[in-house]
This record gives sequence, structure tokens and C-alpha cells, in this order.
Amino acid sequence: MNTAYIYLQLYRLFDEITPVEVDCGQLCQKACCKGDDSGMFLFPGEKEVYKLLNPDWITIEKTDFTYEYNGKTYNTPIALCSGTCDRYQRPLSCRIFPLTPYLNEQGKIDIIVDPRGKGVCPLAKAFYLDDFDDTFVKNVKKAFILLAKNKQFYAFLEEYSRYLDEFRRFYD
Ligand code: SF4
Ligand code: SF4
Repeated sequence: MNTAYIYLQLYRLFDEITPVEVDCGQLCQKACCKGDDSGMFLFPGEKEVYKLLNPDWITIEKTDFTYEYNGKTYNTPIALCSGTCDRYQRPLSCRIFPLTPYLNEQGKIDIIVDPRGKGVCPLAKAFYLDDFDDTFVKNVKKAFILLAKNKQFYAFLEEYSRYLDEFRRFYD
């Protein structure tokens, strides 16, 4: 499966649709694009996009975040930038921020406000899911329902949701 093309299609869901209708970067001087060391996870297979496009504004590194699938351990890469990018090539994590997918107790995908964003993002701190643009929320859900049809992606999501639980304990 050519995962690069799947992600490139999904990116289009967020080319024009943003978390809220106004430019939220004016609220916080683009706090989520500071180009610090925090970076953003690349989802399983997303690294292929950057092998294909090879942009010069991104550096990809390994993280300690791993998940198991089919008896193998997979490492999740992180993308680092210097605070600027080509908007049409930015990773999915940047496009969906400050929302994120989360597997609930029934194993279904919920979209939640990312608990990791609460210390950075005014929207993450103050907004409930209903306060975000409806189309934005729907598109985030659509993207992850599609991605999670892949069994490896679903295995990633299981581990990722437990990782988010660690942050939710502090913020919810
Ligand atoms: S930190 Fe939040 S409010 Fe600021 S630009 Fe990013 S998404 Fe918008
Ligand atoms: S890649 Fe772009 S959208 Fe993502 S953090 Fe960097 S500057 Fe912001």
C-alpha cells in the first residue's frame, strides 16, 4: 500500500478547513508553531510522504514511543520544524491540532481535545469539542476512521490512546 498517497489525499481535508473560522494564530502568536524541540508525531506510514516530497523544512527523528503489531515493535517518528513550513505539506498532526483521535473503551474512535495541547493552545484550554468548527471535527473523524481500517494503524491507536491517558489524568 502506498501510504504517502493516502496521507496526501487526507491532507486535503485540512487545506482550507481549520479548527475555528477565524485565524486562531492571532490569539497566541502561533504558539503551536514555535519550532521548538517538541515536534509532532508522524502517524504510521506518514513518513513516506516526506520521503516522497523531501522538503527542507522538516527533520524526522525517532522517539521512544513504540507499539506492537504482528509480533514486531514499531517506533513512532517525530517531525521537527523550525517554525515555518509549506502549509500544503504540513503533517497530519499539525492539521488536526488541537484535536486528536482516541480509542474509547468500546474500541471506537472518539475525537477529543488533545490533552497535550492544554498547556500551549488557548483553544485546547478553553474549548469543548462542540466549540470547534463542525466540518473540522467531522474531517478529523473521517480521516481517522479511514486510517484505522488498517490493522497496524489500529494497533498504533491503541497504544497512543493509553499514552494520551497519561496526560488526561492531569488535565481532565
Ligand atoms: S496554539 Fe492553538 S490557538 Fe494557537 S495557532 Fe495553534 S491551534 Fe491556533
Ligand atoms: S510543520 Fe508547520 S504547522 Fe507544523 S509546527 Fe511546523 S510550522 Fe507549524
